[in-house]
Amino acid sequence: MTKLSGTLYIVSTPIGNLQDITYRAVETLSAVSLIAAEDTRHSKKLLNHYGIKRPLISYYEYNRFTRIPQIIAHLNDGKDVAVISDAGTPGISDPAYKLTRAAITADIKVETIPGPSAVLAGLIASGLPSDRFLFEGFLPPKKGRKKRLNALKDEQATIIFYESPRRLKRTLQDIGEIIGDRPAVVTRELTKMNEEIIRGTVSELLSYVSKHEPRGEIVLIIGKPDPNVFFK
Ligand code: SAM
Repeated sequence: MTKLSGTLYIVSTPIGNLQDITYRAVETLSAVSLIAAEDTRHSKKLLNHYGIKRPLISYYEYNRFTRIPQIIAHLNDGKDVAVISDAGTPGISDPAYKLTRAAITADIKVETIPGPSAVLAGLIASGLPSDRFLFEGFLPPKKGRKKRLNALKDEQATIIFYESPRRLKRTLQDIGEIIGDRPAVVTRELTKMNEEIIRGTVSELLSYVSKHEPRGEIVLIIGKPDPNVFFK
């Protein structure tokens, strides 16, 4: 007999502006029998905005060991589940990846509902080459940090980092010392009211953030060495 399990939908949601969601995402979220969200209180704002009233459970890094079997059991019962994260595309620097893997291992159908992700929004707004790019996610705060940066010394593709405002200055310092004074762009609070895009070189951005304390969510984009990149 064929197994009639449900489908796990990986649904992208806005990275700030609530309007940035696809029709298919809204339709899917309105139809599934369960939505797994990183922070249910945070996601309720989006779901209420679109009048979506489906049962919600939390799924985050530290409850994944108990939650993954519960969600898989639900799917095995033939019910569809959507996974969303606090922002953007689930699985990009957030725990949805582990749920997706578990579903694939359990022979459950996985479908993606693509949409916003800060990595692509930052890259395309940066003006740095987008024909080849390397997404590095978050740098480790301590152990392994220098090793990761050393491995990028000769990288010619555009490199994209997620960074917290608290660590941005130190990251720019480390990048300047290890990778070099390359073209760099800080994109901050993309699609939100205080969106800001600062273009320059690593050392110019370092001096900017030393004078203006960075706030909010940040994507840092580093280009290949090119002295003329931002010359008009
Ligand atoms: N899954 C998300 C995605 O697809 O972009 C990323 C999740 S990760 C836990 C959160 C990080 O994404 C933030 O610390 C920041 O680096 C970046 N980010 C998310 N929203 C952003 C925004 N509106 N502007 C700039 N960076 C953003």
